[in-house]
Amino acid sequence: MTTSTLRAADALRDAAPRPFWTDRPGAPDPWPPLAGVTECDLLVVGGGLTGLWTAIEARRLDPARDVLLVEARRIAFGASGRNGGFFSESLTHGLAHGAELWPSELPTLLRLGRENVREIAAFLDDQGVDASLRLCGKTVVATRAHHIPALEAAAELNRRHGEDVTLLDGDAVRADVRSPTYLGGLRHRSGGGLLDPGALCWGLARAAAACGVRIHEETPAVTMRRVGERVEVTTDHGTIRARRVVLATNAYQPLLRRLRHRVIPIYDHVLVTEPLDAAALDSLGWLEAQGLTDLGNQFHYYRRTPDDRILWGGYDAIYYFGGRTDAAREQRDASHALLARQFFDTFPQLEGLRFTHRWAGLIDSTSRFTPVFGTALGGRVGYAVGFTGLGVASSRFGARVALDLVDGRDTERTRLELVRRKPVPFPPEPLRYPVVQATRAALAREDQSGRRGAYLRTLDRFGIGFNS
Ligand SMILES: Cc1cc2nc3c(=O)[nH]c(=O)nc-3n(C[C@H](O)[C@H](O)[C@H](O)COP(=O)(O)OP(=O)(O)OC[C@H]3O[C@@H](n4cnc5c(N)ncnc54)[C@H](O)[C@@H]3O)c2cc1C
Repeated sequence: MTTSTLRAADALRDAAPRPFWTDRPGAPDPWPPLAGVTECDLLVVGGGLTGLWTAIEARRLDPARDVLLVEARRIAFGASGRNGGFFSESLTHGLAHGAELWPSELPTLLRLGRENVREIAAFLDDQGVDASLRLCGKTVVATRAHHIPALEAAAELNRRHGEDVTLLDGDAVRADVRSPTYLGGLRHRSGGGLLDPGALCWGLARAAAACGVRIHEETPAVTMRRVGERVEVTTDHGTIRARRVVLATNAYQPLLRRLRHRVIPIYDHVLVTEPLDAAALDSLGWLEAQGLTDLGNQFHYYRRTPDDRILWGGYDAIYYFGGRTDAAREQRDASHALLARQFFDTFPQLEGLRFTHRWAGLIDSTSRFTPVFGTALGGRVGYAVGFTGLGVASSRFGARVALDLVDGRDTERTRLELVRRKPVPFPPEPLRYPVVQATRAALAREDQSGRRGAYLRTLDRFGIGFNS
């Protein structure tokens, strides 16, 4: 074993196999599972950010509406309690991706994304939800020579669309955050920031319950069918007859078969360190505590937590044959060890620091990297899934679209091409697995060489987007 492998193994030795954000005091008391038969105006399936915002917005739009939310496990069990907490205005998986796929709609999408973030911040303020939200922007760092021209192009694009960005040379970015791997950076001072996703979900769940949403945890929805004018959903111990249903189930086994072709589950891996002492913090600089990401298709995202740990995630995204999503996939030793090695390569001065948490979460990936929206069962069921790793803020926009659709409202949102047109479906297994692996390999080759190969250029032409 090499020194760096031993160092990583040692740092991971005592890491708890669970997400940091929900492994803390402050969770709401559990809501009881559903038992028996009940009726409601709107059933929301899924207690992550998409489901919680759907329930809250439904009550805000019509306070008389009886809204029920079922969650298979606990609130924030899924991606919403496992993410990096990067809070982004983007509804298009990044500006470059939006400019490429929806150039004529982009001004509207930018405005709606900015409004969405402002409204979330105002809601949290109004409801007294402390999710440690800071609109501190982020820094994108270059770690390879071919990243530098890409950063320059990104700076130009961002400025053209009114974003506040500063290009940093190697010395400037290393003076801000001390890593020997940085060759340059782009400091974004607009566009979003960071928050505490566990506190956000728990706060939203309390706000939902306070405004009259009935919540049932440990209540997986098992079947769904139309019965007359209603939709009947069965759970382990109950039945719900709902006038309307919104599915907010990420990439878990969907209640609608058609979603299997549009969304695939990709596991993304995360580590969190123990809190850093004053000397360790001093060795980093990083005084603004903004979020950081490196460039590339396989990128890291990292940040300081409110209690001065470092959350370090990304890079090694794994798809399992058949789209399997069982709990065993949440602990992949090879991915966590790779992440740990890369962490110490980035911050060698932190040698000896230990990780306290390791986990993985489901990224609901579409072929276009933005969600798929739609309806089923005669317009009675709506869905918003496929946020592809950028849903902390945009899930609220997705929730509003799903509500527009099940309520039959024609809005600026439902008229967007981003909403109306569905992403290209994935091929079925056994073809899907090799296609996903081939795409991953092509993306990794581009990261090494800086050149986009023929395979990726062909996908680009079909609007199958990996160009964010
Ligand atoms: C590791 C990781 C890092 C990420 N980092 C970021 C980031 O920094 N910034 C960002 O913007 N986005 C990030 N994302 C994406 C973001 O977390 C999600 O897009 C967002 O939380 C929206 O989640 P959701 O509510 O759609 O899904 P989830 O939070 O997964 O919620 C779906 C819920 O539905 C429940 N469910 C599923 N099936 C059923 C059923 N049949 N019956 C009842 N309940 C069911 C699940 O148990 C789950 O709780 C990240 C994702 C991951 C996995």
